[in-house]
Amino acid sequence: MAPLDSVNSHNAPVAGKILWDVDTQADFMEPSGKLYVPGAKDVAPAMERLVDAARAACVTHVASADDHELNDPEISATPDLQSTFPPHCLRGTRGAEKILETKQRDPLPLSLAPYPPGLIPPLVAGRREILLLKKSFDVFTNPNTEALLAALAPEEIVVFGVATDVCNNAAILGFLQRGLRVSFVEDASRGLDEARTTACTTVWRDRGVTFTTTEEVVASRLRDSLPPADETREWSGTGSTTPLISPRRGFRSPSSRSSS
Ligand SMILES: [Zn+2]
Repeated sequence: MAPLDSVNSHNAPVAGKILWDVDTQADFMEPSGKLYVPGAKDVAPAMERLVDAARAACVTHVASADDHELNDPEISATPDLQSTFPPHCLRGTRGAEKILETKQRDPLPLSLAPYPPGLIPPLVAGRREILLLKKSFDVFTNPNTEALLAALAPEEIVVFGVATDVCNNAAILGFLQRGLRVSFVEDASRGLDEARTTACTTVWRDRGVTFTTTEEVVASRLRDSLPPADETREWSGTGSTTPLISPRRGFRSPSSRSSS
């Protein structure tokens, strides 16, 4: 088992889809956690299936994780649960750890310290597990997120995690804003507030997010993505009127522009 594990976590990942794991940390995922997301514990087995499927298929597993200190702007003694929250996922505590079901084995950690332009692609090359640390609910507050996405150039981002109406929402809106194709694994995610969760998923649907299930993702081995760009013409010639947008082409960042 150990040799296979080490091969899988270091081999060059398969291009195409990537698995995006939002904040599956003990404080959100366990009923005794400091900011438990209702029902999260029940979906941990589904999360484990997704992470295992990605590992087996050599698909990149990006995880975001809160890495708080008490003086972070998001932390408040009188939280509104929209932009401020009670203390949670404090650095070094048990609550900040990822749950066993989604644990990464040897991730490349990317903290808030920005890497010089151009350094992210060689760092990421050949790494299957990446850990994006953050001090706000929005993963795009990590200055390395943008460069990471440009380096990975995913055809599709398969998102799961917690909480749907806070951190999942910020991540997904950020992907959409950058022209990236997103699918959301609804049965491997949970929200804090039901009405707000519904409002978020309604917006995503309108903006073209695909809703999927753990079963579908696992059965596809994360591989039945868009047809390759050179097959696009032929594929759309079959009568489909769905416009195909290649995120590989649609997503541009300053670093990808200068290097291409
Ligand atoms: Zn937080």
